[in-house]
This record gives sequence, C-alpha cells and structure tokens, in this order.
Amino acid sequence: MAHNNNRWFTLSATTMLLVSVILPVSTAAAKSKSVKPTQAVLKASAKKTRANAKGLASKYKLAYGAQRGFDKKGRVWIYAKTSSKTLKSSLKVAANYWNSRLGKKEFNIGTKSHHTVTFTATNQKNGNSDAWWTPSLKSLKVQLSYYSKSHKDVQSGMTSYVNSYYQNQVAVKTTNYLANRGIATTDPKYSQEFYSYAVKHQGTEQKNAKKAVKNINQSVATQGVMYEYASTLAHEMGHIIGLNHSPNKLDLMYYQSGNKNIYNYFDVKRGLRGYNPVTATDKARAQLAIKVWQAKH
Ligand SMILES: [Zn+2]
Repeated sequence: MAHNNNRWFTLSATTMLLVSVILPVSTAAAKSKSVKPTQAVLKASAKKTRANAKGLASKYKLAYGAQRGFDKKGRVWIYAKTSSKTLKSSLKVAANYWNSRLGKKEFNIGTKSHHTVTFTATNQKNGNSDAWWTPSLKSLKVQLSYYSKSHKDVQSGMTSYVNSYYQNQVAVKTTNYLANRGIATTDPKYSQEFYSYAVKHQGTEQKNAKKAVKNINQSVATQGVMYEYASTLAHEMGHIIGLNHSPNKLDLMYYQSGNKNIYNYFDVKRGLRGYNPVTATDKARAQLAIKVWQAKH
C-alpha cells in the first residue's frame, strides 16, 4: 500500500517537468488566405449569387456536388440507423453545434420513414477516415473498428489527465508549504523535504484521483467518446452542406479536425458547457453554401 503511494507521487515529478515545457506558438495558420465570405457576399441577391456560383465555389472552397442531403427547403434530416446510444447522442450534439451557430434547424434527426440522409456504423473502410459522407448514396458513415478503439483511447487519456492533475495539486501544496517555511529551492535538503512532505500529504488527492478514475471507467470515458464523435459528425455535416476543407487549423472544416477537450475529465463530466467547434469561418461558409443551393433551387 505505502509503496504504491510513493510510486503514485514519483510519477508526478515527471509529469510536472513535462507540463512545464512551453512550446512556441506557430503563426502559420494566421497567415493562410481567408476563406470566410464577407457580409456583402452573404447578402447578395439570389440572382447575383446564382450567376457567381462557380467563382464563389473556388474562392470559398464549396462543393455543390456534395449537396445531396437537403430536403425541398434546404434542410437535412438524418436517420440514425444504429443501435448505439452513444452515436445517437453524438449525432444530436453535432446537429446542435450547427443549428445554434446558424440560428435555425438546419440539421434534424430523421426517422426510418422520413429522412434525407442515413447514418450507419460500418466495417467498411475508407482510407484512414473515422467517418465520411457519400453524396451519391446519401450516406453518412462511421468506421466501426476506429469507433470501438476510441473508448480505450479516451479512457487512458483521461486517466493520465486526472492523475497528472491531482499529482500536480500535491506538488503545488508542497511547494507552498516549503516556501512558507522559508526553505529555498537552492537548499541542499530541498528535494528530500519536498518528497517527504508530498508523500505524507498526498492522501486526499490520491483518493480524489481514484474516485475520478472510477467515474471515468463507469461513464465519463463513454461521455468523452460521445463528444469526440459529435465533433467528427459535425465535420461531416459541413461536407453535407457542401463545404470542402478549410486551410485554417482552428476551423471545424480543417481536414484534420479533432476535439482536444475530450481528455479533460472535469470538462467532459460537466458536459463541455459552452463548447462549439463551429467557428465564425465555418458558419459564414455554411451560410453561403446554403444560400447558393437555395438560389439554384
Ligand atoms: Zn473532411
């Protein structure tokens, strides 16, 4: 028991060093050419929009050929042909990301008898894609083996996150304690004092970590997977609207989009409040793609 306690904290010293490394922030993304339509473009008449459709597609990276999932009013109805409750939730959350940004019910949950798009989880593969939209089949698919693996991935990522977090709490407490006692970091006894205080006082944090890991295994990892796939499906929904990839790393429609919050145990447990991966650029491009479709139909 005591041996394990010591080991738990030993890990923390390593973690602290790792998290204290500050990497330079790349400005490359900020320099790439803007694909965000201006208000003037978004407010142009239907006639003008129709006439400029080709130019708009190349400038704002739109793919009209992908727009096969709309009903007569330009809305999308997705029928989730899957028994997975997690994926069904992901689909709802993804639809809400878009709908709340666009201010209308663009994406709707369809039924077997009323839908414009069918969503399934498949053993089929499409390169390394987690998910893909096939316009000709009006089919949105998630790759099943990747999806199944994601649970273990989220579980272990979240567990590391939680352990680092609580180990760091021990380190902070210890640092404060030694500082208050006037023991300088240059003191030859410092590391010894640090370690012995930390090990003696890590009990609460260790208990909290164990409780969190239990929660992760019971439900929070599944919740993380749900959010991971909500982002993945929201990206695919962008393709359904007729968006090609964005050159901006921060956009949902960047070719390698991902949800970096899914390992954050606390945020996921709270329900990722306020999180929405649809950026202002994604939104404006989607508005334009829908506008062109409506101008043509
Ligand atoms: Zn994509």
